[in-house]
Formats: sequence, structure tokens, C-alpha cells
Amino acid sequence: MIQTVTSTELPIDERLAIKKNVIAGSEPGKRLCIVTGTHGDELEGQMVCYEMARRLNESIGSLDGVVEIYPALNPLGIDTIQRGIPNFDLDMNRIFPGNPEGSVAEQMAFSIIEDLKGADLVIDIHSSNLYLRETPQARINVLDEDRLVPVATLLNLDFVWIHDAATVLEATLAHSLNSTGTPCVVVEMGVGQRINHKMCYRLVDGIFNLMREMGMWKGIVNRNAISNPIVCKGDNVEFLNAATSGIFITELKCGVVVADGEEIGQIVEPLTGAILSRVVSPVEGYLFTIRAYPIVYEGSLMARIYRMGS
Ligand SMILES: [Zn+2]
Repeated sequence: MIQTVTSTELPIDERLAIKKNVIAGSEPGKRLCIVTGTHGDELEGQMVCYEMARRLNESIGSLDGVVEIYPALNPLGIDTIQRGIPNFDLDMNRIFPGNPEGSVAEQMAFSIIEDLKGADLVIDIHSSNLYLRETPQARINVLDEDRLVPVATLLNLDFVWIHDAATVLEATLAHSLNSTGTPCVVVEMGVGQRINHKMCYRLVDGIFNLMREMGMWKGIVNRNAISNPIVCKGDNVEFLNAATSGIFITELKCGVVVADGEEIGQIVEPLTGAILSRVVSPVEGYLFTIRAYPIVYEGSLMARIYRMGS
């Protein structure tokens, strides 16, 4: 059943509506919410929502409880290929929990939180940005570690990154929900403005695996295909930055183990044919983020590597 979570008038006789699809099973049970599209340039969540709805509709008899699918928390951003909310120059994931008396964007954020409150679990799907490619991973605040790591490890991801409390942004959807008692796990994968089908299917398989553990899904889950992620705490991550500006050339994709001293890629100069600098891993570790957009400036983030054996 399609429901409108919140809607507001646009200036010229149009309405902006945030919608969800409420898919109810035959038996009462838990409530799982899949949300995405907070950042309009991150699209993998669209395919995950589609595939979730498709599989649920196909085997609705296997569902107990309710799955609610919110594909577009920032519809204007998606429409205009913009990360934030157009016209407001605003990152929507910095205005939660919103304010019922605030601006239109804050009112919508407030309505979204009110709507999601009380869910047994919320999965908030992101797709990095235009610049970085991410292996499928969960991001968890250390304060929520005990509650969310067991959930994240069921989602068929490669990596679970537990952040220090100091680096957590308080105005995100996930933080607003977690700090008020509704568990929310953030998934990051792929790269902005593109859809990686394999990653989407993997996450969908993971969500059904999780639903089975939650007692929501009686259907088939291929448990042998579910991966066991690396779980990492924040201070075991190396951030590699560009030593020079230039064009980044690499053969590597994220999701591989690199050796201490291994070259991740080169930063080159098209005008002269010179190699300006090399991006080299300072440790043996798991490469879970790599630069996707080739134009780089001195200091640009090139890779993130989880130090293994640390
Ligand atoms: Zn995002």
C-alpha cells in the first residue's frame, strides 16, 4: 500500500510528496524500514528498493510483519541530480531530527523521523558520492556497537566500520533515530550517480537473511552465499591523501587486500607525460575505499585501508 509520509506545496501549483510502500505480510510481526535517497546523487538504494519490493510481492506469503520502503527522502535532489535539497543548498542528512516549526526542509525531516519512530530496524542506504568508490559496508557509531554490529554482520556486506563517537555527525537520520531508541544501521556502497547491480543484489540477499533472523521471513535464503564481514574500529583505518594534483590512474577496485608498500595508483600529468606521485599503501590491509573520480588535488582522499592484524 502506497502512503504519503509528508507532503508540502511547491511554489507553482505542484506538491512535493515523500512516499513509502507499506508491504504487510500475512502474520503480524516486526517492522523493518528501508530508507534511501537522502542524498539525491546516490542511486544504489533505488535498485535495492525495487528489488526488495519485487521479491516481497512475488513471495508475500513468506513475510510476517511489515516492510516499509522509502525510496526517496529527497525527491527534488534525485530529480535534479543534486546531493542536497535544491534551492536550499542544504545537505538533508544534516537537518535531522528536523523541526515542526522550522523551514519546509526541517518540517519534512521531522515528519520522516516521526514516521520511522518505533520501527524494529531502519536500514539507511547510501552510495558514497561522485568521488569515492566504497565496498559494501555498514557504518556504526561506537555507542550503538552492541546493538547494531550483530545486525550489520547479517547483511551480506564486506566490511563494518565502527566510528568513534567524536566523528559522528549528530544531525544525521541515523543518529537522530538511534539516539531516540529506534535502531538504524547505515549502509554505504558503490559510487555516486551509478548503480552497481551486484552490490545491490548482495545487499538485498543480506536484508532477507536478516529478516529471517528477525523472524520476518519464511522464504528461501541462500545462507552459504552470505559473507562474514571484517569488523573494524575507527582508529585502525589509514587515510591516504594525494601528494600532488593531477589525474589519478589505477587498475584497482576496492574490496581487495593490499600489501605494505603496494602501489594503489599513480597521479600523472597529461601535459608532459610525467608521473607526479604514486599512491602507496603504508600498511598491509583491506582497501575498502578508493578514489573513483580521476581529477585530484593535493590532499584529496585517495583511499581508505583497514590495517590488518592490528
Ligand atoms: Zn549519502
